Amino acid sequence: TQEQAAYRTNQSANLFERAQKVIPGGVNSPVRAFRGVGGTPLFFNHGEGAWITDEDGNRYIDYIGAWGPLILGHRDPGVIAALEAQLKNGLGYGASTEGEVVIAETICKLVPSIEKVRLVTSGTEATMSAIRVARGYTKRDKVLKFEGCYHGHVDGLLVKAGSGALTLGEPDSSGVPKSYTDQTFVLPYNDTDALKALFQKHGDEIACAIVEPVAGNMNLVPPRPEFLATLREVCTQSGSVLIFDEVMTGFRTALGGAQSIYGITPDLTTLGKVIGGGLPIGAFGGKAEIMDCIAPLGSVYQAGTLAGSPLGVAAGQAMLDAIQKPGFYESLTERTEQLTRGLQAAADKAGIPFTTNQVGGMFGCFFTEQKDIHRFDQVMSCDAERFKQYFHLMLQNQVNLAPSAFEAGFVSAAHGDNEIELTIAAAHKAFAAL
Ligand code: PMP
Repeated sequence: TQEQAAYRTNQSANLFERAQKVIPGGVNSPVRAFRGVGGTPLFFNHGEGAWITDEDGNRYIDYIGAWGPLILGHRDPGVIAALEAQLKNGLGYGASTEGEVVIAETICKLVPSIEKVRLVTSGTEATMSAIRVARGYTKRDKVLKFEGCYHGHVDGLLVKAGSGALTLGEPDSSGVPKSYTDQTFVLPYNDTDALKALFQKHGDEIACAIVEPVAGNMNLVPPRPEFLATLREVCTQSGSVLIFDEVMTGFRTALGGAQSIYGITPDLTTLGKVIGGGLPIGAFGGKAEIMDCIAPLGSVYQAGTLAGSPLGVAAGQAMLDAIQKPGFYESLTERTEQLTRGLQAAADKAGIPFTTNQVGGMFGCFFTEQKDIHRFDQVMSCDAERFKQYFHLMLQNQVNLAPSAFEAGFVSAAHGDNEIELTIAAAHKAFAAL
């Protein structure tokens, strides 16, 4: 609750200057570069509970949470203790451990559609591997993805929609061969008619459809009730594998993931973020019949030197133990609602056109006259200039939001009444200054 003197970011600016000489763009992942919001990217050196501290000593209430993993807040004592215990026994053995069995059992118990699961080291690897096994299982090549959903930097998924509703995608990054994205159909999110039309024409070519069951990479866009149900239906009819990419939503929107909220059972699920407790872990799993196509049982090759790293597994298991406590998600959801209600009231008071979306511990804020944001084009038409100003005003008032109008926000169990009230007070100031 400290009052800050003049807000300074000199140390971050110095580090960014050094970084740009030795790291492309000064960052190891593009969104960190503040391209969408302008100004100097911040460099952080400490996190504790809901708060993080930058190199200039500024403290912020953090709504990034390492982009989702830190559902218990920074330096959760249980996660730290589990890591310390594992450190005493070594960093890794390149062989199997009991911890891997226990975390796999936990994942299968918490997400019943997952009968078998394999650990990898990032979300990208999880989606890439899930798609490979879906192709191996179906002996088909084509993949369907949805506009505005992100599944990591997998070649064939860095695709933007081509012209016309039923065309194949085009590369959305240089370095991706057109022949890869020729294998990918792209449809608008939440558009049930387009979905039916595509499957009618091409259903028997489609190996899998991959979707964020709650889209968290175009700000936050929940699915329309009929969208996921129709997707399940057309996949079943065509013998296509349905993959829910729950890298972001898994153990974040609900204990059983978004699939438990909407009551739709995918064939495969990808996980990441929360399951690693903040360390690099991803996972993919689902029907045993599909998963058993993977080597060494089957002919689909997939492997990893660091897969199932004991440290990642220890942190992840501590996290999964903590989030199973009764009332955890009710309380996280209520906190998040408290935040979005407060932000809306602050915007209304200042006469700023604004709306929010929220599912479990995830939220999205939109500077727009529109209500009920459920399409990519609605997200893209929001006032990005206003978001930029809001973002910087919030930073100056000790609130760290994602530096992009197209990212979701994350609340952790460490965000208490005090943090939510301070955030809403900061928003009142920010909205008044817009
Ligand atoms: N899928 C989804 C839904 C994601 O949000 C992300 C990353 N934000 C990924 C996959 C890729 O994960 P990673 O960055 O760990 O490779």
